[in-house]
Amino acid sequence: MRLSRYFLPLLKETPSEAQIVSHRFMLRAGMIRQEAAGIYAWLPLGFKVLGKIEQIVREEMNRAGAIEILMPTLQPSDLWKETGRYDAYGPEMLRITDRHERELVYGPTNEDMITEIFRAYVRSYKALPLNLYHTQWKFRDEIRPRFGVMRGREFLMKDAYSFDLDKEAARRSYNRMYVAYLRAFTRMGIVTIPMRAETGPIGGDLSHEFIVLADTGESEVFCHKDLLDMPVPGEDVDFDGDLEPIVRQRTALYAATSDVHDAARFEAEVPADKRVTARGIEVGQIFYFGTKYSVPMKAVVTGPDGKDVAVHGGSYGVGVSRLVGAIIEACHDEAGIVWPAPVAPFDIGLINLKKGDAKTDAAGEDLYARLTKAGRDVLYDDTDERPGAKFASMDLIGLPTQLVVGPRGLEKGMVEVKNRATGAKEEMTLEAAVNRFTS
Ligand code: ATP
Ligand code: MG
Repeated sequence: MRLSRYFLPLLKETPSEAQIVSHRFMLRAGMIRQEAAGIYAWLPLGFKVLGKIEQIVREEMNRAGAIEILMPTLQPSDLWKETGRYDAYGPEMLRITDRHERELVYGPTNEDMITEIFRAYVRSYKALPLNLYHTQWKFRDEIRPRFGVMRGREFLMKDAYSFDLDKEAARRSYNRMYVAYLRAFTRMGIVTIPMRAETGPIGGDLSHEFIVLADTGESEVFCHKDLLDMPVPGEDVDFDGDLEPIVRQRTALYAATSDVHDAARFEAEVPADKRVTARGIEVGQIFYFGTKYSVPMKAVVTGPDGKDVAVHGGSYGVGVSRLVGAIIEACHDEAGIVWPAPVAPFDIGLINLKKGDAKTDAAGEDLYARLTKAGRDVLYDDTDERPGAKFASMDLIGLPTQLVVGPRGLEKGMVEVKNRATGAKEEMTLEAAVNRFTS
């Protein structure tokens, strides 16, 4: 993409309304625009990152055996009345009346609707286990939307729903999501810690929140230090096999959010030098809630013995749009964002230091064409801005690699490669640079 043809509305000034670094950088880097309190338009750069995060989550859901669908944003209120959540959800739920005076809600979550879908089609235990998921916009009329996309009112969530014959099988489904979440977040370049958590309005008795440690996090969390660098299962993990040992390795160590924290246990179980008390951002949460929805909604299947049983359910959410902010909170410096490569909006930022200089333009075009042809996603700064401004913008938007061409280097036949994360710079020939990024 040529920057001269792109839509990248960078802001020079630090927006005063942004209280935390991720929100500031997202506004300055032209990733989002607020349209109403807690409601954002995703501009090209932000939208690209959002798509990459969504895709990683999708791949890991599929790997774990979940099946993708798409449910609507609007739901009939009747479903919520059936489960009794219509009143329980309170003012956070946006209620809408259509022209026929029928009441709809803008879905804050989808347990009720997915249970309706399940009961319409599934009759036998033989269809189980079943896990259906989608990535869809949610609306929660948060009383205090803030921190940009981290606590919005409209936000993108991946939510998966599992159905099993009994508690034991549901536990296996839960473990699959637990491991899939660890894998997905790790692929995004962040460390998350699963912590025991309160179940809230979703209900149930088993739940973990996946937390990224960050000073700006809204949750207070407590955990064993060894959880910070525990290896995460690789691509070869067998989702049909027994995942309990992987889950147990982590759950054996203390990790809890403040809602369920037990200070006495924390001190008894964790040696003083291993106690981490920190703040964290919740990027995902998984729940086992048993028959909470299947009983009132009569989602039953015939078991192997011919008797009807209410299915055991779980639900599993990832804050896809919140993750954009959370990753920035974890990956930045004073100059801007430092994207982990798998979620970076472009692979390479190519800077032409002297637009209009024949030799520089020729080298820039050559690099741009060859890297693009090799499948690298390149943002080519071919504008006539000053070099200083170009460097600052490239640092702000945080692409993993910067490639700089200018008259001075080209005189010696050299271009410069800069690693955004380490700041390390290397001079090399244009051919060497092409080789580096195409082989
Ligand atoms: P929180 O405690 O932060 O309000 P929650 O526990 O109510 O979140 P869940 O129902 O567990 O949220 O939703 C699944 C995921 O969706 C959360 O882990 C979080 O990453 C994301 N999420 C929830 N609320 C918001 C929001 N208002 N803005 C952005 N993302 C959100
Ligand atoms: Mg939650």
